[in-house]
Amino acid sequence: MAGLFILWMSLSAQVAVAQNNAIVDRIISEGNSTSQLEKLAHELFDRIGPRLVGTPNMKAANDWAVDKYAGWGISARNEQWGEWKGWERGITHIDMVTPRVRSLEGTQLAWSPSTKGKTVTAECIILPDVADSLAFQAWLPNAKGKFVLISMLQPTGRPDYNWREFATKESFEKMTKDRAAQTAAWAARIKKTGYSTRMLPIILERAGAKGIIGNNWSAGFGVDKIFNAYTTKIPTVDIALEDYGLLYRLVESGDKPTISIKADSKDNGMVPTYNTLAEIKGSEKPDEYVMLSAHFDSWDGGTGATDNGTGTLTMMEAMRILKSVYPNPKRTILVGHWGSEEQGLNGSRAFTEDHPEIISKLHALFNQDNGTGRVVSMSGAGFKNAKEYMERWLAVVPKNMKDSIRTSFPGSPAGGGSDNASFVAVGAPGYSLGALNWSYGNYTWHTNRDTYDKVVFDDLRNNAILTAILVYMACEDPTFFNREKADLNAPRPAGEGGGFPGGRGGGPRGPQTWPTPTKAIRKGPVPPTN
Ligand SMILES: [Zn+2]
Repeated sequence: MAGLFILWMSLSAQVAVAQNNAIVDRIISEGNSTSQLEKLAHELFDRIGPRLVGTPNMKAANDWAVDKYAGWGISARNEQWGEWKGWERGITHIDMVTPRVRSLEGTQLAWSPSTKGKTVTAECIILPDVADSLAFQAWLPNAKGKFVLISMLQPTGRPDYNWREFATKESFEKMTKDRAAQTAAWAARIKKTGYSTRMLPIILERAGAKGIIGNNWSAGFGVDKIFNAYTTKIPTVDIALEDYGLLYRLVESGDKPTISIKADSKDNGMVPTYNTLAEIKGSEKPDEYVMLSAHFDSWDGGTGATDNGTGTLTMMEAMRILKSVYPNPKRTILVGHWGSEEQGLNGSRAFTEDHPEIISKLHALFNQDNGTGRVVSMSGAGFKNAKEYMERWLAVVPKNMKDSIRTSFPGSPAGGGSDNASFVAVGAPGYSLGALNWSYGNYTWHTNRDTYDKVVFDDLRNNAILTAILVYMACEDPTFFNREKADLNAPRPAGEGGGFPGGRGGGPRGPQTWPTPTKAIRKGPVPPTN
């Protein structure tokens, strides 16, 4: 009797494995032979462009995604979660007019006021190094009628890897030491004004400045990080390192450079803002969910290709593959394309607040948001039972894909960094698919060079296939995930970290206590107060 039972068990296990492999094989072949990634990337990055919260491009992207899903027979919808300052980038021209003429490489910051159809011409000055906040108040009238440079002069426009390759050891050391001292001195210069870097532009605006000029160099050739302005009446622009240095040195040498700016952005008042959701209904357990997750919004210096266009396309392509080869999943497959991640995970936080019925029945969520590379790390996000599940899912992943994925269990809950953190904070299993770096931090993350050409499509194909397999396997799990949390203070194996794969929020280990939810900002942006 016992012998027969064992024989029956092993036969049924074999059937299960064979069936798994058949679906997995079809996922792989669908992902490789009918890939839509290049087409989707062109439509989203080149045609629609960047997806800053509150812009018409963001809404166009929401509508585009719903249409794409409809074309694949997947039901999708845009769900409003808040409202944001409506803003539309226009043509910007920044030119040096004296002591010689040169068109400058620069970008108006997000939400920056326009120049109201005019070309504004004025002299440049540098934020002074004053003794204290009283001295700064005494100096402030000098800002009237001027463009004020508020960033430090970088001592080099060459990235460190270039110095390491060509400089003498002594020369490189001297440069990095000098630069550290200059960086500290500049921070002290700002502090002595009595204002934060966010508040300072507003104070200069109130003092009658014509505009704010900054340089947020991203420590690589040709890259600046482009974030948002804080001024409400005058333009704020970032000028590329080469041209910023030119202006700075001309001010210092007494040449009194003047520049002209024409910035034609449009203020569209407050506008509604959305998450895009799409789902394939479950056939056996329709009220249980397996989710795909990637933020849809971006900053708008480039086209948000790798932050987070690549995560977005990975999830869309995985959904397309799943609909084609696994149209009747046991659990409901739901994808979340989140709005306003960049201003604080707002779309996904709002979703966790608005959908307790989904959160309580969420079996697993896979989020990807650190660039274009192949997925190389996964962790149990601090859940005690994640190992059993994740190892079973990964067991059917092709060896060439799986062998490069480093897993850590129980891992640590993400405290921030991307949208998986919103889910982990409410105790739901949100996993991060950590990608290879591909110079993400310096060259594409929030930069003016985050564009189509940086996408590595073969890596994306790998990730879409991997995601589809993980989602398929999670849908098939016999039991609903038990969310018991691991002891975060227990000793960990050497080298096991937590936080955000790829650097942000990482560190030697994760938090000692479980992160708690932060409320979504439903109306933004929130102006600085100090
Ligand atoms: Zn991102």
